Amino acid sequence: MQLNFSGLRALVTGAGKGIGRDTVKALYASGARVVAVSRTNADLVSLSKECPGIEPVCVDLGDWKATEKALGGVGPVDLLVNNAAVALMRPFLEVTKEDFDRSFSVNLRSAFQVSQIVARGMINRGVPGSIVNVSSMVAHVTFPNLAAYSTTKGAMTMLTKSMAMELGPYKIRVNSVNPTVVLTAMGQKVSADPEFSQKLKERHPLRKFAEVEDVVNSILFLLSDRSASTSGSGILVDAGYLAS
Ligand code: NDP
Repeated sequence: MQLNFSGLRALVTGAGKGIGRDTVKALYASGARVVAVSRTNADLVSLSKECPGIEPVCVDLGDWKATEKALGGVGPVDLLVNNAAVALMRPFLEVTKEDFDRSFSVNLRSAFQVSQIVARGMINRGVPGSIVNVSSMVAHVTFPNLAAYSTTKGAMTMLTKSMAMELGPYKIRVNSVNPTVVLTAMGQKVSADPEFSQKLKERHPLRKFAEVEDVVNSILFLLSDRSASTSGSGILVDAGYLAS
């Protein structure tokens, strides 16, 4: 599927590594202008070398004030990918207040805040838009040691639906992608135990995890007009896991 995003400006959070980084590259290759937001400047420097002309923004999205300062004046954005997240792994009984607050501020509150900034701009300009929240299949099923993380993703399902309902009249669509394990830095951490990882993989009907490219393709589909009548919805990129 060849998509053309020429003339559009996209903003991707968590752009430094993994799924976010490849989303930036795919959007760039499809003609979009891209604002790449991440926390580690070295990642943005190397990404800017690969994609000359992108607009890097270095900020900790878990910090509300810093995010407002960095992105409050970001200007016109047509496509938004809320992708930044942390997976702080701990058994439920050992999760600290700090783990909980960090998980929610980065994974959920930043998606809320950045979407408000971007959607207000779309409405003021009177243009349509598309927002994709990068969630997870753990919005629907449990995983050991991921209580805080999974809860942020479960809440993201309702955030996606709420935004779709309230922003729909302005022709702004909002959807999520919900992947299984993807072997980025985060995915490797979550599936680090080889025995657990092997068993988990075998529980997937397709007997595999997802590739970064699979997730990026679903994000691009939801950003594009090919999904023009889809909003408040989610695409599972789960190798069939939820069917098993
Ligand atoms: P990575 O950990 O590989 O990359 C995450 C990126 O987000 C990094 O560039 C990181 O920057 C950035 N980021 C994290 N916290 C912040 C912050 N506070 N402010 C700004 N940027 C931040 O993760 P993935 O690419 O694997 O994950 C991307 C998305 O996909 C996430 O929403 C994740 O929940 C979801 N997902 C991932 C799965 C997997 O198995 N990998 C499975 C299902 C969903 P830095 O490294 O500098 O902190």
